[in-house]
Amino acid sequence: MSALDGRTAIVTGAARGLGAEYARILHDAGANVVIADLLEEEGAALAAELGARARFERLDVTSEEEWERVTASALDAFGAIDVLVNNAGIANAAPIEHFTLAKWRAVIEVNLTGTFLGCRAVVPAMKAAGRGSIINISSVEGLRGSPALHGYTASKFGVRGLTKSLAVELGPAGIRVNSVHPGLILTEMTTRIDPDDLVIPLGRAALPADVAGTIRFLAGDDSAYTTGAEFVVDGGMTA
Ligand code: NAD
Repeated sequence: MSALDGRTAIVTGAARGLGAEYARILHDAGANVVIADLLEEEGAALAAELGARARFERLDVTSEEEWERVTASALDAFGAIDVLVNNAGIANAAPIEHFTLAKWRAVIEVNLTGTFLGCRAVVPAMKAAGRGSIINISSVEGLRGSPALHGYTASKFGVRGLTKSLAVELGPAGIRVNSVHPGLILTEMTTRIDPDDLVIPLGRAALPADVAGTIRFLAGDDSAYTTGAEFVVDGGMTA
């Protein structure tokens, strides 16, 4: 028997990068997995590779209607939503004088509003079941400031704050809400960052697999008494 047998997880932004690794590890641990992303080809390919307990749903996390459709379809297919990983995200950067309103709105809309909509969409099913684990992906940029990342940093601090208010409100309903704060992970989002420009005590950038174990821990019962907490997975960057 695996730790997540019979549980159902929705992972957003799961067609590639970190989200794909989270979908894989939750699936390997026995969960039914909904791979939710804008990228239809990659998402459908991953679902096909994982097999019967995985399905792809096209989701734009900024759309209330699409969240309604995806949660209804997950409930229809698997009967419950036990875990939500709010992972979909984008990044942009510019010095403040050149940080356009369009840039600001785009990053806040996907990273923060998308996370809010996801949490709101799954809570009724989790309340009805009397349990649930919501894992919100923030960043080390949700713990400190870095030049030019103004919208990204604000969004990731926002995700951390939303996690706290939800943890306090939803604890009595048996729903846990935690945030995860990765450092530099090698994905398409970070191709332009040189790890040698950063001080990383563990001496290397991470791969998605370096973060996935924390997601599995937070999804399952080993973390049953953990809520409102911040999990920093950064090789010591912010120590
Ligand atoms: P990525 O760009 O490789 O993947 C992001 C995924 O999100 C893509 O599949 C994309 O299609 C999807 N996505 C974007 N907008 C969406 C939307 N509106 N609706 C649905 N899906 C959408 O990035 P990644 O590095 O895998 O990052 C995943 C998450 O981890 C992000 O929230 C990111 O901020 C966070 N993070 C990444 C790092 C890093 O170093 N890579 C560090 C800290 C935090």
